[in-house]
Amino acid sequence: MPMRLQRYLARAGAASRRGAENLMTAGRVRVNGEVVTQLGSKVDPATDVVTVDGVVVRPADKPTYIMLNKPAGYLTTMSDPRGRRCVAELVPTKEVPGLFPVGRLDGDTTGLLLFTTNGSAAQEMLHPSRHVSKHYVALVEGVPSEAELEVLRKGVVLDDGPTQPAGVELLGFHDPRVRPVSAGKVFGSDASVVGVRIHEGRKRQVKRMLAAIGHPVLRLHRDEFGPLRLTQCKRGSWRHLSEHEVSAIEALCSTRH
Ligand code: URA
Repeated sequence: MPMRLQRYLARAGAASRRGAENLMTAGRVRVNGEVVTQLGSKVDPATDVVTVDGVVVRPADKPTYIMLNKPAGYLTTMSDPRGRRCVAELVPTKEVPGLFPVGRLDGDTTGLLLFTTNGSAAQEMLHPSRHVSKHYVALVEGVPSEAELEVLRKGVVLDDGPTQPAGVELLGFHDPRVRPVSAGKVFGSDASVVGVRIHEGRKRQVKRMLAAIGHPVLRLHRDEFGPLRLTQCKRGSWRHLSEHEVSAIEALCSTRH
């Protein structure tokens, strides 16, 4: 529900109503990056990003949820003592203090990575007994047979134990969601694209599963995480979750498991 910007700022604790008017007329308040000085302007708390002097303000009871389309070459960490590139560089950590990734993707894996300030929601989504679904699109060496895919569907034994049954299908020989392969390497009929849906989150799980059936992963991309789909988010960019997506996450986290 849209509300007056002065009221929003007061609710967020940025200032009193009168103080909020002063902030606005001084040009210190931006909505979605645009300075707003017009008293009486409205904002939608579910979708608009309001900043005062460049710092995001929002009513404290509203946690932030952000979807990143992770490019390859970034570690899933908020800082790296060895100075390697990490996902913190790609999300608005200054404007949204307390943001952290929910789970992880390998450095060379691309796609959907969720960030939040809501520690309990993150814990719930990652809890093994919740079996939150994740869908990956993998470019693999060779073309797996139905019998090989069936091994993954039933569960395959890895060095840390058997995997739970997975959803696995051969999608084809080329898929635009998987980045074109690196220069100099050409994959034709000796590479294929496999869709994998798992409900666990073990380290390098999808790569190890596909290696276990003799089809090592060349590229890996995640396009679904729980109720979220990687949409309207270009590679390397992020967006706030829609109200609908936040409700879906919060509904998932509030069900018993
Ligand atoms: N499985 C993997 O092997 N790597 C990832 O990054 C995610 C799932």
